Amino acid sequence: MKVYDRLDRQYEKFAKEYQAAALRVLDSGWYILGKEGEQFEKEFASCVGGAYCVGLNSGLDALILAVRALGIGAGDEVIVPANTYIATVLGITANGATPVFVEPDEYYNIDADRIEAAITPKTRAIMVVHLYGQAANMSAIKAIADRHKLYVIEDCAQSHTADFCGKVSGTWGDVGCFSFYPTKNLGAFGDAGAVVVNDEALAEKFRALRNYGSRVKYYNEYAGVNSRLDEMQAALLRVKLSHLAELIDERRTLKEKYLQGIKNSAIILPKVREGAGHVWHLFVVRCERRNELHDFLEQRGIHTQIHYPVPPHLQKCYEYLGHKKGDFPIAEKFANEVLSLPFYNGMTDDEINFVINVVNEF
Ligand SMILES: *Cc1c(COP(=O)(O)O)cnc(C)c1O
Repeated sequence: MKVYDRLDRQYEKFAKEYQAAALRVLDSGWYILGKEGEQFEKEFASCVGGAYCVGLNSGLDALILAVRALGIGAGDEVIVPANTYIATVLGITANGATPVFVEPDEYYNIDADRIEAAITPKTRAIMVVHLYGQAANMSAIKAIADRHKLYVIEDCAQSHTADFCGKVSGTWGDVGCFSFYPTKNLGAFGDAGAVVVNDEALAEKFRALRNYGSRVKYYNEYAGVNSRLDEMQAALLRVKLSHLAELIDERRTLKEKYLQGIKNSAIILPKVREGAGHVWHLFVVRCERRNELHDFLEQRGIHTQIHYPVPPHLQKCYEYLGHKKGDFPIAEKFANEVLSLPFYNGMTDDEINFVINVVNEF
């Protein structure tokens, strides 16, 4: 048996609906900034409980434009978890601002207790990531941000509808940044992203920024970009959004099977913080002999992934920041030990039991 993260199962489950939506767009003769996008923005904003959603090209664009829209740039510092995907950090550096890394806690999210030590007079914002689908410790983080008058930007690329104490990720801070990359819990069939905000003027700014910086055609207020969610992706996302709750429920059933079934003292299972909602974007375990575990599974037909093997502060592109190995030992340890087991909608009992048995044999 071969087991790997696959997207065809969730497509097949709703294939008729996706096909109808795609045909509707093709037949409409209108492909960018139209009714589907507007509807999706309304539906997604209401799903997460934010006032406004602005559809964009990607999650990275959401992060870049969030930093830009808040007026953060050269000379400014933004606090960011040391344990995250590179895109989070690119959102900061693409604007000329400086990322200031903070170690993760045992839930893989930014450790709120270490944030204040990283604040300087140049700090303008805290960029939070709700990694793997679990909301970060938002009550504590929001309190710190308020005390120091800092913006909060949330990277929700992995956390669609995950909440902390009942408040959904993406609505705690000033801007919630979402990715709809195909593998995400709410994935499109190509690149797509969005921001969610509560401030109408800020929403207007994002609408201009995504469209060359223009509100009125051919009159440009900002030096903007082209980052529009197209009608095809919006229509397909509307279908998926209508099934999102059931897709997340299925992921919760699957994670429970892993949590109950995996019994191996070499493996650390994921934990959920009190008060944190988890939408289980990934099922990430830790193992000191991670590379051996990876190879062991691979040889038996189980393809796993590493999210992520090299933390941003050790990436070649950030050499100029002057960090070295050992600067963030917890993030580095995680990078050496994490392994994402196959985990996808439509995973069968046979497939998950096979993975559980092989993991227990290790
Ligand atoms: C996927 C992801 C992004 C980037 O989203 P894209 O749509 O691929 O640009 C950003 N941050 C995190 C944490 C992600 O997982």
